Amino acid sequence: MSVETGQRTFATASAEDIRALREVLREFGRSEIRPNVRALEAAGTLPKEMYRRIGELGAFGCAFPESLGGSAMGIEAMAVCAEELAYAYPPLSAGMNMQGATVPLTILQWGAAAQVERYVPGLISGRKIGFNAMTEPDGGSDFVGAMRTRAVRDGGDYVLNGSKMWITNADVADVGIVYCKTDPAAGHKGVSAFLVERNTPGFQTRRIKCSVLGSLMTTNELHFTDMRVPAGQMLGEEGEGFRIAMSAMDYGRVVIAARSLGLARACLDASVEYADLRTAFGQKIGNFQMIKKMIAEMVCDVAAAQELVYGTARKFDAGQVSTRDSSIAKFFAGEAANRAAQSASEIFGGYAFSDELPISIYLNYAKLWQTGEGSANLQRVLIADDALGWKSLDRHQRAPRKLPQ
Ligand SMILES: Cc1cc2nc3c(=O)[nH]c(=O)nc-3n(C[C@H](O)[C@H](O)[C@H](O)COP(=O)(O)OP(=O)(O)OC[C@H]3O[C@@H](n4cnc5c(N)ncnc54)[C@H](O)[C@@H]3O)c2cc1C
Repeated sequence: MSVETGQRTFATASAEDIRALREVLREFGRSEIRPNVRALEAAGTLPKEMYRRIGELGAFGCAFPESLGGSAMGIEAMAVCAEELAYAYPPLSAGMNMQGATVPLTILQWGAAAQVERYVPGLISGRKIGFNAMTEPDGGSDFVGAMRTRAVRDGGDYVLNGSKMWITNADVADVGIVYCKTDPAAGHKGVSAFLVERNTPGFQTRRIKCSVLGSLMTTNELHFTDMRVPAGQMLGEEGEGFRIAMSAMDYGRVVIAARSLGLARACLDASVEYADLRTAFGQKIGNFQMIKKMIAEMVCDVAAAQELVYGTARKFDAGQVSTRDSSIAKFFAGEAANRAAQSASEIFGGYAFSDELPISIYLNYAKLWQTGEGSANLQRVLIADDALGWKSLDRHQRAPRKLPQ
């Protein structure tokens, strides 16, 4: 079946294809990710070879046409890969946004043909590392109000000056999307997006130490000093940056919701196994009602998150891209992951703190994903404003997007 998603038409996979893809990713997680997590963490750097392996499995290419090296399976398949990678080990699933959605899908949707051909195949194969730079030191939720990075036209180039904050994988990346103000007086309409290669003169990165997140993703400050970017590197048109960022988040939120679902499922499975093994006061701890309560609530949270994530993904595959749906899925799955990680850490008792188990990673990543791609509080505000009829969450969907050349 051929359908329209966003601006591109591609075939969706059958339920059988998607089941088979899930099994491939699950087996990869079981046999190649989990047994190697400690060695990868000890190496202390982004595991580029692992990114390439994940790319070879097709996890990053689900939403892309075969002509670019993708599988054209669709958004549901993309969500399955995000869920399974997060289930295997949450930090590795950051690649699903940078390599499989937020960066390349935005280039596919808004880029000129030459930009798409230059950057998308490398990103979705896992051979090139991508980054997405919106947040600045003065704020992320209000990224337009807080944006100080300026791009000023000078002949055939734009000259960029400013800083970005918390940018995933940027220090080891090849190319990314940088949002900046081209017309500071024009509010949302004064934001533009550029494709920036990391080796551009005037571009510096400084890694931010976040030991609680492990070392399989990096987070960075970026500094641009009189950095010249050819005008041909602009993504979309001048002043379209805000709309580009909003469309990137429609897909980014589905992916992060699927990652939260995978994390919640990992917490549930680990807790069930442990509650059936660990004994206290002469019985399995699963016999205690308070442990049963936490397990039952995790089961229900996982089941509800599954419905929201895959319901949204299937609607996207049917051409019904909805900011409201992706916001609700992101919010609920993020809360479910936090509840599940909290419960897992209680069920594991003192062992939750051991580096030999992933429980503290589950807790920290559940918290991180509650904040990334629009914080939980911000989703609450957006969802409530939509319900009150004050600001439709889907208002940005009404304006037709320009088809790429
Ligand atoms: C490890 C890591 C990786 C990241 N990766 C990236 C990346 O690759 N690219 C990128 O651009 N950004 C990235 N971020 C930034 C992330 O998206 C921001 O942290 C997030 O958007 C929140 O922005 P902030 O931290 O400035 O918090 P603020 O916006 O300052 O918010 C602080 C608090 O106020 C609340 N708040 C803000 N506004 C409202 C409101 N209107 N109503 C109610 N509550 C509100 C928030 O919910 C939050 O609780 C990353 C962050 C981290 C920690």
